[in-house]
Amino acid sequence: MFDYLIVGAGFAGSVLAERLARGLNKRVLIVDKRAHIGGNAYDCHDEHGILVHRYGPHIFHTNSADIFDYLSRFTEWRQYQHRVRACVDGRLVPIPINLDTINTLYGLSLDPSGMREFLAAVAEKRDPVVTSEDVVLNGVGRELYEKFFRGYTRKQWGLDPSELDAQVTARVPVRLNRDDRYFTDSYQAMPARGFTHLFGNMLDHPKIKIMLNTDYREVRDMISFDQLIFTGPVDEFFDYRFGKLPYRCLEFKHETHHRPVFQDAPVVNYPNEYAYTRVTEFKYLTGQAHPFTSIVYEYPRADGDPYYPIPRPDNAALYKKYQALAGETPDVHFVGRLATYRYYNMDQVVGQALTLFSKLSGVKRVEAMALA
Ligand code: FAD
Ligand code: UDP
Repeated sequence: MFDYLIVGAGFAGSVLAERLARGLNKRVLIVDKRAHIGGNAYDCHDEHGILVHRYGPHIFHTNSADIFDYLSRFTEWRQYQHRVRACVDGRLVPIPINLDTINTLYGLSLDPSGMREFLAAVAEKRDPVVTSEDVVLNGVGRELYEKFFRGYTRKQWGLDPSELDAQVTARVPVRLNRDDRYFTDSYQAMPARGFTHLFGNMLDHPKIKIMLNTDYREVRDMISFDQLIFTGPVDEFFDYRFGKLPYRCLEFKHETHHRPVFQDAPVVNYPNEYAYTRVTEFKYLTGQAHPFTSIVYEYPRADGDPYYPIPRPDNAALYKKYQALAGETPDVHFVGRLATYRYYNMDQVVGQALTLFSKLSGVKRVEAMALA
């Protein structure tokens, strides 16, 4: 007899399992159809002993001290500031677009106020800013939009930026200075021994049982439990009653090269060439020393495992119908990126799970996080 059946051992499911067991002494069964814990943040050593992220590069970043402190209970950290280069006009330049990007591409030597004037001259003002195309044209104008964003976005999403909500390309800012970090959050770090190790510590509790390689539908009728927490795709839960919610899929091609370094940056984006969007070299992220190096290519796909909700008005309208249905199913709690159809980063999913735990425990979030 379990108090909770949790579907999915990614961040959403694992945070709730940990809090319910450790904080409220509940009996929890966590089920995942994959062969491992960690969800999309899963990492492992490949056949050469190099730590890789099976489902693409995961870099932890947050502005929330609470969330960082909470996760610090389960891991030590390696400080890491992520940097990305885009291959544009045959050169590798910083993305987010910054002062060096503009000076390198155009052979200029602008200072920040010069860059502000440059952008003001090329920007195509949009009001209101509604789509992902609007965001970029409004900020940097058509030429830079075409060099950096249009091709990448069409590849990544199978849609034109004009068909996607502003939030998608708004994730990538423009900087007037030389800061070439991908994120500027106050906390940026990688779990010192990897994400899977962090999850292992989180789920290491006598009241938590883990069942892998199991679709919850195979076992839900055989197990007795009071409440269900679901972190998989919400449309699947309801047997696609209103039709399929679109998710964007990826195929990952992992390679190991028999040399210490493959490329000049942790991630290189290819907006305009190749079928893949970006190449990640893991040793930059993990700091691992090894004579070989492992990389991953990301090929966007229409079909396959769901990785990204697709933020656009039609999909939001369809999700609302599922959300209403979810609201009428009080013994099932929906949480996480797939179950709430939100383009969330890891820290946002942790925050969402902690908020649900606070609701389930009936105490304020800060107190709920402290329950032990
Ligand atoms: P998931 O990790 O998807 O976990 C859901 C789990 O549910 C899965 O393990 C799945 O197998 C299981 N499941 C689904 N259906 C069933 C079923 N029927 N029965 C049993 N189990 C089921 N975020 C960042 O903060 N930084 C990054 O750098 C970053 N990079 C990313 C790169 C890529 C390529 C992708 C795809 C995402 C990235 N993210 C990043 C986002 C991050 O992966 C998510 O925010 C986070 O992992 C979501 O956690 P979750 O628990 O909601 O979902
Ligand atoms: N993007 C782009 N060119 C880039 C980087 C990002 O067009 O060089 C757009 C693209 O639509 C992408 C979105 O900005 O999907 C968000 O980028 P981010 O790196 O945050 O994507 P994620 O890591 O979530 O895949």
